[in-house]
Amino acid sequence: GKAVGTGTIQYLTHEMDEQFTRKLQLERSLFTALEDHSLHLAYQPIINLKTKQVDGFEALLRWNHTALGSIPPDEFIPLAEEAALITPINNWVVLEACEQLAKWQERISDDLTMAINISPHQFQSDSFVRTLHHVVGQKKINPRFVTLEMTENIAILQTQRTVERMQLIKSLGFRLSIDDFGTGYSSLQYLRAFPIDELKIDKVFIDGIDSGENGLLDSIIQLGRNLNLNLVAEGVETASALRYLEATACQQMQGFIFSEPLSVTEIEERFGPSTPE
Ligand code: C2E
Ligand code: CA
Ligand code: CA
Ligand code: CA
Repeated sequence: GKAVGTGTIQYLTHEMDEQFTRKLQLERSLFTALEDHSLHLAYQPIINLKTKQVDGFEALLRWNHTALGSIPPDEFIPLAEEAALITPINNWVVLEACEQLAKWQERISDDLTMAINISPHQFQSDSFVRTLHHVVGQKKINPRFVTLEMTENIAILQTQRTVERMQLIKSLGFRLSIDDFGTGYSSLQYLRAFPIDELKIDKVFIDGIDSGENGLLDSIIQLGRNLNLNLVAEGVETASALRYLEATACQQMQGFIFSEPLSVTEIEERFGPSTPE
C-alpha cells in the first residue's frame, strides 16, 4: 500500500507555513492596532424577556485588519494574550465601553447597562483594577450599570485569590457575571463562594431547546434561581427557543433573533431618539 507520500508532507508543510505566516503577520499588526484605530467595539443588545425592551448592551471587540480584513476575536485575542498585548487592549475596551455607556445613558435611556468581557489574565492584573478605579473616579457612570463577564475558567486559578479579587471588584460597585455558563470547569461549590450577580447560559443549552434536549437548561435555570442570580440566555436564534425561555425564570436574552452585534451608528439609528424631520 501507499504510505503518506512526499506530496502530502509538502502540502502539510505548506499549510503550516501559511498558518505561521498569518500568525506572525497578525501578531505584528496587533502591536499598532490600538494606535491606528483598527480595533473597535460592536454592541449587541440585551433584551428583557418580559418587556422585550433593550436593557443594555454587551461590548464585543472587532479588529479590521488593513490587509486581511475582519479578524474574529476568537482568533486574535489568544494571539494578543501570547504577545503580552492583551492588557493594554483589554484596558482600552473597559474605558471605551464605559465612555460609550455614559453617552447612551444621556442620549437613549439613563438606566442602560453595559456588559464587558474580561479575560482570566486581565482579571488577575493590577492594571485592570487600576482601570476600574479610574472609571469609578471619573464619575461619568455608576458602576452598578456595568457588568464584568468572565468565564468559569477563572475558577481554575487559586480560589481564595479569585474570591478576594471578586470582592474587591464588587466593593467598587461593579456587577459580576459568569459567561458561557455550563461549558467550562464547573463546580457548584465555587458558585456559592463567588460574589456574582448573574449567569449567562451558554448557547449550547439554548440550541438544545429545539432538539428537545432541555434537561440541562432547566437544571441551570433552577440552580440560578436558587442562588438568586440574574439569568441571561445567550445565542437565541429561533422563535421556538424564545417562546420556551419566556416561560422560564430567565430574565434576559441575547441573540440573532433580536439583533446581531451592531456599530455605534446602527445602535443610535435603531434605539436613539428619533431626529425631527
Ligand atoms: P462571548 O462573550 O460568549 O460573546 C458572544 C458571542 O456570540 C459573540 O461572538 C456574538 O457575536 C455571538 N453571538 C451572539 N448572538 C448569537 C446568536 O444568536 N448566534 C450565534 N451563532 N452567535 C451569537 P464574537 O463577537 O465573535 O466574540 C467571541 C468571543 O470573543 C466572545 O464570546 C468573548 O469570549 C471574546 N471577546 C469578544 N470581545 C471581547 C473583549 O472585548 N475582551 C475579551 N477578553 N474577550 C472578548
Ligand atoms: Ca460575553
Ligand atoms: Ca458567552
Ligand atoms: Ca464564548
